[in-house]
Amino acid sequence: MPDTIPTAAPKPASRDPGTARFDVVVVGAGFGGMYMLHCLRKLGFSARVYEAGGGVGGTWYWNRYPGARCDVESMQYSYSFDDALDQEWSWSEKYSPQPEILDYANHVADRYELRQDIQFDTRVTATTFDEATQRWSVETDQGDRVSAQFCVMAVGCLSAANRPDFAGIGDFQGQIYHTGEWPHEGVDLSGKRVAIIGTGSSAIQAIPIIAEQAKSLTVFQRSPSYTVPARNAKLDPEVEAAVKADYPEFRAKARMRPTGVYFLFNAESALDATPEEREQQYEESWVRGGLPFLGAYGDLLFEKEANDTIAEFARRKIRKTVKDPATATLLSPDNVFGCKRLCVDTGYYETYNQPHVRLVDVSKAPIEQIIRTGLVVNGEEHEVDVIICATGFAAMTGSFEKIKITGRDGLTLTKKWEAGPRTYLGLSTNGFPNFFMITGPGSPSVLASMIQSIEQHADWMVDCFAHMRDIGAKTIEPVLQDENDWVDHVNEVAKISLRSTCSSWYVGANIPGRPRVFMPYIGGFPIYVDRCNKVMDKGFEGFVIDGGEVRNAPPKIRNTERWHVPLKMDIISPAAIAAKRVPIV
Ligand code: FAD
Ligand code: NAP
Repeated sequence: MPDTIPTAAPKPASRDPGTARFDVVVVGAGFGGMYMLHCLRKLGFSARVYEAGGGVGGTWYWNRYPGARCDVESMQYSYSFDDALDQEWSWSEKYSPQPEILDYANHVADRYELRQDIQFDTRVTATTFDEATQRWSVETDQGDRVSAQFCVMAVGCLSAANRPDFAGIGDFQGQIYHTGEWPHEGVDLSGKRVAIIGTGSSAIQAIPIIAEQAKSLTVFQRSPSYTVPARNAKLDPEVEAAVKADYPEFRAKARMRPTGVYFLFNAESALDATPEEREQQYEESWVRGGLPFLGAYGDLLFEKEANDTIAEFARRKIRKTVKDPATATLLSPDNVFGCKRLCVDTGYYETYNQPHVRLVDVSKAPIEQIIRTGLVVNGEEHEVDVIICATGFAAMTGSFEKIKITGRDGLTLTKKWEAGPRTYLGLSTNGFPNFFMITGPGSPSVLASMIQSIEQHADWMVDCFAHMRDIGAKTIEPVLQDENDWVDHVNEVAKISLRSTCSSWYVGANIPGRPRVFMPYIGGFPIYVDRCNKVMDKGFEGFVIDGGEVRNAPPKIRNTERWHVPLKMDIISPAAIAAKRVPIV
């Protein structure tokens, strides 16, 4: 690994003239867009990537708030497509910090010479399907207007920052930041009176670090989150060596897990254990820490009674750690454990024992107003110098909504999705030929290790595009009935999980006015991959090619070879699913 990795594009793509034509336009240069570009070039497609940010990395380019790091172990939260890349890169910590993940993204961009096909600082504003030419016309805020046969959205599930429109927000005399759009030059919070709004994963990572810097820190909490200690540490060289000794096998094992992540699990029922056994199991899992805590038993996300046992264990931990009983009570969620995305922290609860840290409940009385000097809640003024919005994202569909995407007959995607997103396999949507999404709604996306989800989608797409080229086809589009059946299936499996029962961003409930639909596919990563393979092997079953199904011959397998393995579900046997014993993170 080089000591210093350039973060600026040494050779950015030059601006595109109006006549430019590509096989594929990709929107976004996070891990999704980067890998898509690499795959396209490998198979000889011409491609242009547009990226609103000034560099690669997506999430890790934008989210530079103090404490930002991954919560899937770095040795798994990384690309798996090239063993040479796996071997040459070394992570410093079990869960690496944002700057290192961004270094990794830049290293990948350099290693595979990706930048030459990426336009940075360029936001795609509109994409329109032209029925006459059967191509997409793509427009950007920098004046580009290009055409492409395929349009791939790699815009990210968590990339459209949610900035609530608090009354009086323009009156505040200090600085207001959002964790997902953190200034690149950093923010000096030393000696400042800081307010942070929100207590989700971002806030929970940031709060302990900000408390170290700030003169005072006031946390405005609408709903408490469950969080588990990360137990982060320097990466153990022995662990690294053991994984690297057979990285492909390790990756393959991870892909057989419901989440695409390999971790210790116990498929037994919590309800079959005695209270003493449960206590011991939870304690051991808590000591190991991180998201795998939820794998302590197999039925935790299916049986409310089982979930109550882990929820109560977590609340006891809060009461034991937080000295002020009123604060401990406020920090204790009373809903389903792991229903909202579980958080992972380092010293979060301990932070509230510091005298300069205060928790303000805004669940019943919301933030009334922002004034010149601070925030008003329930008539009380909280004077601060800086406000940090850790208020999350318009998840899953937010970045789609910002682009005017127009398919057949002038139908816009926003209109089509007004009652909730509808896709076939989370890959594409009827009415929008040759339009594809990486980790789109209806795919496992955020419920799996996302880089695995990304690679599987991009590999599937390039094999599809290559097949189209092989047979000289112009368009591919899902059949409405197959799309409807898939949407029904996504909704049906969501119902068996307790995750569908609470108001989380998984169901769009964090943004006022959004339809309530469980957006990711919760049926498990291997089952989903198997379904994608079968669709492909049956000549893109459920799609029409050039308006008819007659040409749906089985494709040549190129990039999807590594996904085309028999469905060997490891812990998720059909019996386990039937018995609802599927640990899901
Ligand atoms: P993104 O990284 O979001 O990239 C999308 C890119 O598209 C962005 O750069 C954006 O600028 C660009 N874009 C969007 N719209 C346009 C437009 N109109 N024109 C041009 N460009 C556009 N996942 C895990 O599996 N494990 C983790 O530990 C983990 N930690 C996370 C921590 C944080 C703070 C956040 C916010 C998310 C985390 N995630 C994690 C999820 C993370 O988003 C994914 O793992 C992954 O990085 C997504 O990559 P992506 O390329 O699909 O999307
Ligand atoms: P989030 O989980 O959606 O949390 C946003 C927080 O802001 C919530 O506490 C929310 O309260 C609060 N909020 C929103 N609007 C508010 C308002 N008007 N008034 C008061 N409070 C308000 O967002 P996030 O923390 O950025 O995390 C999003 C996702 O990104 C995570 O779930 C995870 O998938 C990923 N992520 C991962 C990591 C990691 O550890 N690797 C770190 C950060 C993010 P309510 O709960 O009441 O809505």
